[in-house]
Amino acid sequence: MEAKRFRSTIKWLDFFEEIIDVECPNCQSKAQLHRQPNTYKCCYGYTFKFQCNHCHSEIKEVEKYIYTVKRHCPYCAEVIDYRSMQTKKIKKEQEVCCKSCEARITYTPKVETVREFIWKGNNIEFTFWYSQTYQGNRFWAVNEEHLAYLEDFIRAKLRLRSKYRSGMMLVDKLPSFIKDKNNRDGLLKLISKLKEK
Ligand SMILES: [Zn+2]
Ligand SMILES: [Zn+2]
Repeated sequence: MEAKRFRSTIKWLDFFEEIIDVECPNCQSKAQLHRQPNTYKCCYGYTFKFQCNHCHSEIKEVEKYIYTVKRHCPYCAEVIDYRSMQTKKIKKEQEVCCKSCEARITYTPKVETVREFIWKGNNIEFTFWYSQTYQGNRFWAVNEEHLAYLEDFIRAKLRLRSKYRSGMMLVDKLPSFIKDKNNRDGLLKLISKLKEK
């Protein structure tokens, strides 16, 4: 009998994230977040567009920035450690004030991006459609394809790792309860229930 094999080839979580299945916060139906190229000028990455085909609720993703500067003051050598509030403004320069000598200096700041989904004026967090608690652990998949991938992994008896790996593979990132053989049957049952959802 040939053991079932599971190859952790080039399967990044990122690869699955074209469409993320989530629960619609308005009607609790299955809804989607569609990945799109980031149109903001400030930084590289993706943005997600919410779509519920049942209630067509409008949920917008808003991007905000935090600007930081960490330098030694060129006049008195004191540490300048500046962190701005969250803002929608796109800035190339940030003026900071040295607390020690009160000099005002302009630097190119580092930028952190904060993204929020806004629904009816409040920021909300989405729940993955394919998610459930398993013995105190949260089991989740971003979409059907990802769920099928996890099912393959859990079902496989022999787990081969690709020789051509570079960096972290999705399998390396899986929590230990998913890799635990003792949870195999329980998790497969849970997955087939999620598929019916
Ligand atoms: Zn809905
Ligand atoms: Zn200074």
